[in-house]
Amino acid sequence: MKPKTDVIVGAGPTGLVLALWLHHQGVNVHILTRQTVRPKLGLTEDLLALGYKLPASNLWVGEEHKAHIPLRDFGLELTPYPFMLSTPQDDLERMIEKRLNDVSIHVARGSKLQGFVGHGSSITATLFREIDESSTTHEASYIVGCDGAHSAVRRGIGAKFEGETYIYIADVEGKGDEHFNRKGHMVFTNDTFTQVVPYNEAGHARLSLSIRSHSMMLDPKSRNNRAFLVGDAAHIHSPVGGQGMNTGIMDSVNLAWKLATVLKPNMTKEAKYQLDSSLSRIGEGTVQPDDRLPWVEINEVDNFSTLREVCWQLHIYGESVPELEKWAREMNAKVFTFDWHDQYGKVGLVKNAVYLLRPDQYIAGIFEGPSTKAGLDEYFATRGFCPHAGRD
Ligand SMILES: Cc1cc2nc3c(=O)[nH]c(=O)nc-3n(C[C@H](O)[C@H](O)[C@H](O)COP(=O)(O)OP(=O)(O)OC[C@H]3O[C@@H](n4cnc5c(N)ncnc54)[C@H](O)[C@@H]3O)c2cc1C
Repeated sequence: MKPKTDVIVGAGPTGLVLALWLHHQGVNVHILTRQTVRPKLGLTEDLLALGYKLPASNLWVGEEHKAHIPLRDFGLELTPYPFMLSTPQDDLERMIEKRLNDVSIHVARGSKLQGFVGHGSSITATLFREIDESSTTHEASYIVGCDGAHSAVRRGIGAKFEGETYIYIADVEGKGDEHFNRKGHMVFTNDTFTQVVPYNEAGHARLSLSIRSHSMMLDPKSRNNRAFLVGDAAHIHSPVGGQGMNTGIMDSVNLAWKLATVLKPNMTKEAKYQLDSSLSRIGEGTVQPDDRLPWVEINEVDNFSTLREVCWQLHIYGESVPELEKWAREMNAKVFTFDWHDQYGKVGLVKNAVYLLRPDQYIAGIFEGPSTKAGLDEYFATRGFCPHAGRD
């Protein structure tokens, strides 16, 4: 019998996001962390309320001030959020976990993965509870290691993890006109890189000093058909660059739609190996399959507003195509039509083209003209899956 759940090991930011996105795509999850205490989506508004908008950052070479970089609106016209937002990670984790609790998913605290074995079409994970020293087993279709730098899932796969990092980090509080002025500072010397990133108005900042820093990366040859690694379990970046968590969250959003797809009933074996090959027809615009959809807001019509729903979508910029409404209903996808405006053309979108968007908000394919419906059908037929969702 097919297991009822999928196991996520680790409740850091990548595990929490993966659980939330899988839930919204119809997958049952079991999420656990060895931590016993809780550390101190429509996630955007909560995140904005939580974060601190950095007004600017300063660039120094040694003691010489080289540049002042305004950050309040440096992404204007590219994103609805054109600023840099600084947020403590534990606040972010608490916020996402609350969203999971709202949909009745709870992190099994104090439960540690000891190991797992694969049986072809499923895995059995052995979990250990420190509080009563009990061991239990859990059957799942897949196991995802979101369990950080010392990942037990990575050990289970036997993957190599190479690289090294020398970094010092401190959360500090201070005052000062030159370096403690609620703006960011980046200081370069021949051998070091130091960064001050404020995260609130009260004079608190993260101070990081990098002496030598190489990212640690998973050997790409490491593979296991039933186990996946995301976040720090798969790659560790220097914290100075501020990319680790962001990259891990993107891993999760991407893995979620693929896992949700392969877990659907009647999925052919071949399809499971074809999820990475996207592309179908390329229109005349500069936007191509595998790109992120460009953001445009015209007269308060925001084309990103539809992306709050985690599902396959069609975006049409121009005239609506009634036959696609029926196709989308049958496929459990959504169609959104935006009246044409030159502004769409300026960002590379093509009038009356149909953009097929994946649940991770990237463009799967672009279709035009009378063969659009046939092209959409072909897209899914050649990959052996369709967007029908639902827990089985
Ligand atoms: C000081 C510092 C500053 C940083 N600043 C930034 C920044 O500004 N921006 C940014 O994007 N990134 C930053 N990072 C990186 C970021 O913190 C990590 O990339 C992020 O935490 C990775 O998330 P994760 O969910 O993959 O792993 P983790 O956060 O490490 O979470 C791992 C989870 O797995 C659980 N676990 C581990 N082993 C087991 C087991 N055997 N069984 C059960 N559960 C287990 C743990 O309890 C935990 O819940 C910083 C890192 C550091 C150290």
